[in-house]
Amino acid sequence: MGGREATMVLLDENGIRCDGRKIDETRKIMIKAGVLKNADGSAYIEFGDNKILVGIFGPRDVHPKHMSDTDTGILRVRYHMEPFSVTERKNPAPSRREIEISKVIKEALEPAVMLEKFPRTAVDVFIEVLQADGGTRCAALSAASVALADAGIPMRDMVAACASGKVADTIVLDVNNEEDQAGQADMPIGYMPNLKKITLLQLDGILTSDEFKKCVDVGINGCKIVYELQKKALTDKYFGNGSN
Ligand code: UDP
Repeated sequence: MGGREATMVLLDENGIRCDGRKIDETRKIMIKAGVLKNADGSAYIEFGDNKILVGIFGPRDVHPKHMSDTDTGILRVRYHMEPFSVTERKNPAPSRREIEISKVIKEALEPAVMLEKFPRTAVDVFIEVLQADGGTRCAALSAASVALADAGIPMRDMVAACASGKVADTIVLDVNNEEDQAGQADMPIGYMPNLKKITLLQLDGILTSDEFKKCVDVGINGCKIVYELQKKALTDKYFGNGSN
């Protein structure tokens, strides 16, 4: 999180951000459902310069069997960054960060998926980050929800995700990579708009309690924008408006 020098550049006197956006604007978002033939469900998302592919397998038997739960299905999530996804080659071995993001995405998806309908089975969510530019956990979580729905897994709602943050003393929607590096706070949020429930909330940085509330409200508005595009991706696939 940076100081005043970065602050001057991040937001100009007309309230325009370093990538030309207004404070309440998301980056350009494109979501496509059902892009992989051999997975049970899949989705692809472009969120600004982030490019992420998600493939689902399951529900299927758990091996070894003692890992299964007789009362419910289990969700397993692997978030993985390709070595070429960032400017400085990423070591292909799982990093602490990837393990943490896999865990938070799993926990953010669990309230949405009706795992109790599939006791003793596992649903696997494989996330491949092809290109990263800040905000990959939110983009990946949003794509994973679409991929789970595409796999026909019963869900209570989809989780839509978007980050808000504080840049140049101003609360903004959808923090990009530069803003994440040099801004004052970054708050990724995962939200189920129909159920009005937050399933992911992290905060890197410091906010006053008023700023915290504003960040949550701004982030939820971003999630609602993402939600419409998630629904459109599924409608396009299943009701013939797309090329699938
Ligand atoms: N990043 C990188 N190398 C890494 C990990 C991350 O360049 O090994 C970049 C990448 O663009 C990522 C950004 O740093 O999107 C912010 O990472 P963070 O841990 O905040 O997670 P994210 O914002 O992607 O959810």
